Amino acid sequence: MSTRQTLPTEQPACHPPPESPLAAAGTGERAHRARTEPMTIRGLQDGRTIVETDGGTYVVDADHERCTCPDHAIRGVRCKHLRRVAIEAAAGTIPPAGMREGACALCGDPVFVEFDQPTALCERHSFEPGECVIDRETGSLLIVVAETTDRADERRIDDGRPIAEVETNRNYSGHEPVVEAVYASALGRQTNGRAAKRYGFPASRLRHTDHDPVRGRRLLASHRPAQRADAAG
Ligand SMILES: [Zn+2]
Ligand SMILES: [Zn+2]
Repeated sequence: MSTRQTLPTEQPACHPPPESPLAAAGTGERAHRARTEPMTIRGLQDGRTIVETDGGTYVVDADHERCTCPDHAIRGVRCKHLRRVAIEAAAGTIPPAGMREGACALCGDPVFVEFDQPTALCERHSFEPGECVIDRETGSLLIVVAETTDRADERRIDDGRPIAEVETNRNYSGHEPVVEAVYASALGRQTNGRAAKRYGFPASRLRHTDHDPVRGRRLLASHRPAQRADAAG
């Protein structure tokens, strides 16, 4: 199971901190041209980028700092195409190195995802750890533990069934991410030192609420995460 980055302290080590678009270009003549010349940028599924200019069309591999243009291929310099791709990535208009463009499982809006990430949610639909949500099936109040990148039709519960195939999840799509949550009532009860059980839900089964998120975080702080999430009945 993989978990979307959940806490501000858990920045993945492989992604450098975001650079400002201005700094991304560097300085000098090539940086100036990278910023000002008209170029059409198009991301490929494999993470490379097509850069179309008046002078030709080139393929930039930002991960390996490579470009197919003569300036880079022959002279070995950081060409204007590499710089332009760095500018666009820093500005958030194309995926940063190591990521590709995907779509929110609920609304289809574009989101940047890891290459092997099978499902994702946009900013508007994503869940925060500690957030209070309502189970649409039972009306129960739950506290989100984590939004995972596992699909509901792939993550299995103890009896081997995918979460999407549990009766009460039939109204929700299997391609949605699994969101792990604990029942607020279970956190409030004395559990004899045992962690409250965490359950996995297809994302759209959980409804965002206006409840105080601080309360959710406080309840969650007293909760030790269980080994694995099960599907709610
Ligand atoms: Zn180039
Ligand atoms: Zn969305």
